Amino acid sequence: MSDKVKEYSNGEITVVWKAELCQHSKKCFTGLSSVFDPKARPWINISGADSETIAAQVDQCPSGALSWYKNKT
Ligand code: SF4
Repeated sequence: MSDKVKEYSNGEITVVWKAELCQHSKKCFTGLSSVFDPKARPWINISGADSETIAAQVDQCPSGALSWYKNKT
């Protein structure tokens, strides 16, 4: 895994961010600013919303930089 790929898990789902693919469309942080904040480090606060809300926003990413998967239980 490249160091430009980051994973953020809340135990239920994991959000994957591939920096190289990001087109800085701002869609994620205008849509769900409680989770996505480019000024924060880490810039994704996986505790900022419930899993369903986060997954729905991740699915809106136009570049494929954001993706998510369900954690194994
Ligand atoms: S929605 Fe996707 S492409 Fe746009 S800023 Fe967020 S991660 Fe980058």
